[in-house]
Parts: sequence; structure tokens; C-alpha cells
Amino acid sequence: MNIHEYQGKAVLKEYGAPVSAGFPALSVAEAVEAAKKLPGPLYVVKSQIHAGGRGKGKFKELPADAKGGVRLAKSIEEVESHAKEMLGNTLVTLQTGPAGKQVNRLYIEDGSDIAKEFYLSALVDRETSRVAFVVSTEGGMDIEKVAHDTPEKIKTFSVDPATGIMPHHGRTVAKALGLSGDQAKQAASVLGQIYAAFVGKDMAMLEINPLIVTTQGQVKCLDAKVSFDSNSLYRHPELMALRDETEEDAKEIEASKYDLAYIALDGTIGCMVNGAGLAMATLDIIQLYGESPANFLDVGGGASEEKVTAAFKIITADPKVKGILVNIFGGIMKCDVIARGVIAAVKTVGLEVPLVVRLEGTNVEEGKEIIRNSGLNVIPADDLDDAAQKIVAAIKKA
Ligand code: GDP
Ligand code: MG
Repeated sequence: MNIHEYQGKAVLKEYGAPVSAGFPALSVAEAVEAAKKLPGPLYVVKSQIHAGGRGKGKFKELPADAKGGVRLAKSIEEVESHAKEMLGNTLVTLQTGPAGKQVNRLYIEDGSDIAKEFYLSALVDRETSRVAFVVSTEGGMDIEKVAHDTPEKIKTFSVDPATGIMPHHGRTVAKALGLSGDQAKQAASVLGQIYAAFVGKDMAMLEINPLIVTTQGQVKCLDAKVSFDSNSLYRHPELMALRDETEEDAKEIEASKYDLAYIALDGTIGCMVNGAGLAMATLDIIQLYGESPANFLDVGGGASEEKVTAAFKIITADPKVKGILVNIFGGIMKCDVIARGVIAAVKTVGLEVPLVVRLEGTNVEEGKEIIRNSGLNVIPADDLDDAAQKIVAAIKKA
């Protein structure tokens, strides 16, 4: 689960990490109120969307030479005019894709005078089974590009969970960033705070880009991109409150209510499959026959009729879907349960696109029988290859 920058900074602050003062705002009036509470004379007006690269982003509705999604303001009037230009408009960044994201929230922050910008991130490294850090002097830049062009400017290390952050980790960071004296100490303490936040809140990723040194010599987290491990959210009810559903795909939210593993994709064939491996194979074979899947959907091992019905409704509600392929290998999941779920869903939502069903495994005959007797226009298939060819042919004909 991802959260907004201002929420991420509030979490970091709980752990003592240095962040600027600021307030979120949902309207121009709130943005002005927020600015009035800050000392000035420099303010930052920051678009809150779940994507990075906002500073260099472009608003679809504004002229090409208009400023991006993170703007400095030297007065409250300027905060107001930036807020007016940003709220409600669509910001396109390298990370949003061409459709962009509508800006519905701003964060009004006390502006900092920057002397240096660095990069600092933490993530779970599966290879070492530890929390790993990535540090670089190249802050405020696209870190993938830095890794590609100048890998020597990136330092990585991982932390032994038994000891946690040790003084030598702090020295490693200070050295990598070229800091000494008081700033080296500050950087080391930020590292400890960030590690505590990461572990304490079960984060999956935390990226601070940039970590800065101000002209007054203070080390600060100027940006924060945080994502939490969804499997641990049950341990953190306070984090669930930070979820912003307007940032997520509506179909994925609906699917999560039924505990379905659903990912929206860009193609035309809606897929309902059980088991992640079979789902991946189904996506591949659809591509092989020249079409693209509209989604990945794993209904899971022991899906109920209700769950199958919900899954089918999510697929049919997607206007991109021109045909549906149900591909079930009944093991724990029984073919008759799938068949009943599909029929129940078709009866409530109707069926306006071709539907190919391939069933195999436990209770397969019963499942096929249910579909035959339903009187619905379902195209039966014998195996995966047959099913993929049939659905591709069916949508070409439609
Ligand atoms: P991103 O573009 O989505 O990564 O958003 P950031 O929060 O990183 O902001 C983009 C850039 O705006 C930063 O890299 C800074 O160069 C600049 N910026 C952000 N906050 C301040 C600030 O308080 N003072 C100054 N001078 N620049 C800032
Ligand atoms: Mg940034």
C-alpha cells in the first residue's frame, strides 16, 4: 500500500526524523490557511499523488511552459495562485504514465534553503533477507539513471536484523555523502530513525529523494515515498486510515474486498483463472495468439460461489473487455462451484461479450453440465491452447 508524501513525513516524524513543517490542503482556501500558519518567507506547494517525478511533471490542462507539480512560492498570494493552478488538474510525470493523475490534495510546506541534495532509500532485499540501504550523492535525480550511468556514485549496504543500525553504518553513509563533523552525526541519526520507522511500520520501501543539507547545516528529509507491506497491514490499523482509494484502481479495490488477486492490465480479454501460475500461463498464451489480457485474476484455491460471482462482475464491468476467458483447473477449487458462480454472475449482470470456458479437474463433468444446461451462450473449450484460440477468434468476429 502506498501513501502520500505528507503522510509518509508524518510517520517519519513519529520516529524523530527531521522534516519541514507543513499542512495538507484539499482546497485553495485550505492552502492559504496552511501557508498562514507557516513562518515564510519561502513556501513549497506540493501536489500529492502516488507517483514521483512531480517537480518535473507537466499539467495536462496548462500550457507546456507552466511550472510542474512542486513549486516554490515567496508569498501567500503566490501559494494561492499555485494552488489554483494545481488543484483539480492532471499531473503527468515519468511515473504516472501518459494518462497522468488528478491532483486532489496539496501539501504546503515551509521552504528550505538547500545547500546539498542527496539520495537515501531503504528496501527489503530478498537476496540477503535484510533491510538494505541505497545512498548516493546524486539527490533529486532519477536514481535508475544514476545506477546506469555512474554506478560508482551509489553505495549500498544491508543491516543485520540482530544488531540493527550500528555506528559503522552511520560512518558508511557519512563517507558516501562526503559529510563530516556535526552533519555526519545528523546523517547517522537520520539513518537510525529511518531504520526504526521502516521496521516498526513494516515498510516495503522508503525513498528519500532528496535528503538535504540546508544552508544552515541541517540534515532534512525533503521528500518521502513510502510503501507498506500489505501482508503486515493487519498489524497496523493506524496505517489503514492513510489509504487513499482515489489513487487506486477501482476494480482492484473491489477485488481486494473479496480477497481476489486482481491486477488491471491494458488489453481486451478478461481472464478468470485459479492459481497464479496458471494465470500467468493464460496471459502468455493469449499474447501468443495475438491478443492482450485485460487483467490478471487469480480467484485462489478455495473460492466460494460468491467470490467467483464478484470476480466475474469485476471483469464484465471493465469497458475494455471484449471477451472473457475462464480457465480453471479444479483441484481444491471445484469446477461445479466455478460454473455456478459464473452462471449466477451472468444472470445478474448479463453477458454482452463472448465467453469461453475451459474447465478441467475435480467435478469437471458436473461443471460442464451446469454450463450446458444454463442456456447461456458459452463457448466450451477442451484445453488451454484451444481456449485461447477460441476467445481470440471470437473477439475478432464480434
Ligand atoms: P518529486 O519531484 O516528486 O520527487 O518531488 P520532491 O519533493 O523531491 O521535489 C522536487 C524538487 O523540488 C526537489 O528535488 C527540490 O529540488 C525542490 N524542492 C522541494 N522542496 C524544496 C524546498 O523546500 N526548497 C527548495 N529550494 N527546493 C525544494
Ligand atoms: Mg523527490
